[in-house]
Amino acid sequence: MADMRDDNAQDATELMEKIRTYQPVIWHNPHQVSWSVSHHDVPATREEIDDTRRRFTRWQPVLNELFPREFSPAAPGVIESPLRELREAADHLARRYSRAGSVAPRIFMKLDSHLPVSGSIKARGGFHEVLALTERLAAPDTPPPDEQNRHHRGRGYSIAVGSTGNLGLSIGILGSALGYSVTVHMSADAREWKKQLLRRRGVTVVEHEGDFSTAVAAGRATAAGDPRCHFVDDEHSRDLFLGYAAAAAPLREQLEHAGVLVDRDHPLCVYLPCGVGGGPGGVTFGLKEEFGDAVHCYFVEPTHAPAMLLGLMTGRMDRVSVQEMGLDNRTIADGLAVGRPSGLVAPAMRRVVSGVFTVPDEELLALTAILDHTEGLRLEPSAVAGLPGPFRISAPPEATHLVWATGGNMVPAQDMEEWLQAGRRILGGQAPDWQAPDWQASP
Ligand SMILES: *Cc1c(COP(=O)(O)O)cnc(C)c1O
Repeated sequence: MADMRDDNAQDATELMEKIRTYQPVIWHNPHQVSWSVSHHDVPATREEIDDTRRRFTRWQPVLNELFPREFSPAAPGVIESPLRELREAADHLARRYSRAGSVAPRIFMKLDSHLPVSGSIKARGGFHEVLALTERLAAPDTPPPDEQNRHHRGRGYSIAVGSTGNLGLSIGILGSALGYSVTVHMSADAREWKKQLLRRRGVTVVEHEGDFSTAVAAGRATAAGDPRCHFVDDEHSRDLFLGYAAAAAPLREQLEHAGVLVDRDHPLCVYLPCGVGGGPGGVTFGLKEEFGDAVHCYFVEPTHAPAMLLGLMTGRMDRVSVQEMGLDNRTIADGLAVGRPSGLVAPAMRRVVSGVFTVPDEELLALTAILDHTEGLRLEPSAVAGLPGPFRISAPPEATHLVWATGGNMVPAQDMEEWLQAGRRILGGQAPDWQAPDWQASP
């Protein structure tokens, strides 16, 4: 036993050294236990997920009326995304990542990049937060949301939020459409087009020199002391968390429809890009409620911003930051540029998540280009972070892999083109010769 402890200690030291030098790592969670035990750690219930789903359903007519061009006639007002099997991409990646002759695993992609209205996974959490707030503010005798005056529900009330971009976009778009005055505090990572789009819709955008934590602190300060201002707290909000968790039940139906069996012998391995943790944590909670121990969830972070990895690995949760480990939190994956994990999600996921792995920016850009080239899918670099997952972990051949694509549909063509060109350069032009590093060598 003593020997084994020494080995583990040495592994941890080695892992930390790689993290400190921006090398990609995979951390298998030694604290993971069965869902029947670990569900006690999550401060939310299945009933609350059901409430959340009913709330989204109640608001469908309003959402459809506010954003008539955003929804397909078949699903008016429905904030849901397609599930797509990756065939070309799976073959291509299998050739790059695996030894010759290995079969391509079955890989699906959940296209939250294509969620209506705000084009990222934040449509789930952010919209739910605004809708839940609106219902709380409504007097008990207020008519249901499909009655008169629906565009002015938020009048006289304001919302503040700190964001690296996409959360601000979702809160700002829906909040302003419902009549709230919204202030979005953007971190230095936020893309220019998101600020412009929000300003055009009457949202106040405050730009900060600092990172995500700075922007969140500014949002919190704006709201403090103003009883008519709601602060959307990306580091602690349960309404955000539940909005993400509601994704799981529709996904189960999509998988069934695709003929995918999920059980103990046919596990589902899910790869979720992680910033502060609300998105991946909420989705994981929902998936565990649906599939229990048959689903294995991995969080993915950029090598320059492994906030959740550090929080979980050291056991220090939100009391650790990438900056204090000497890392710069600078990454092309702006949606994941977070230095400190959520104080709500890190403890909730400590015994739930199967592991965390990190991906260098060059690989994110290369994957962005590969996905465009093989599937015609244009996603932002944050959103492709899960793609190496099926090749980084060892799963049985019966496993189905699910890569959660988290954003990109609204990115202007010019920004997209810059990423694609950078990715193609890394890949060596039209005949890509980029080879995946030998992941087997990492701990
Ligand atoms: C916000 C975001 C994530 C991660 O969500 P968190 O709640 O911050 O962990 C992943 N991808 C994209 C594109 C995002 O905008």
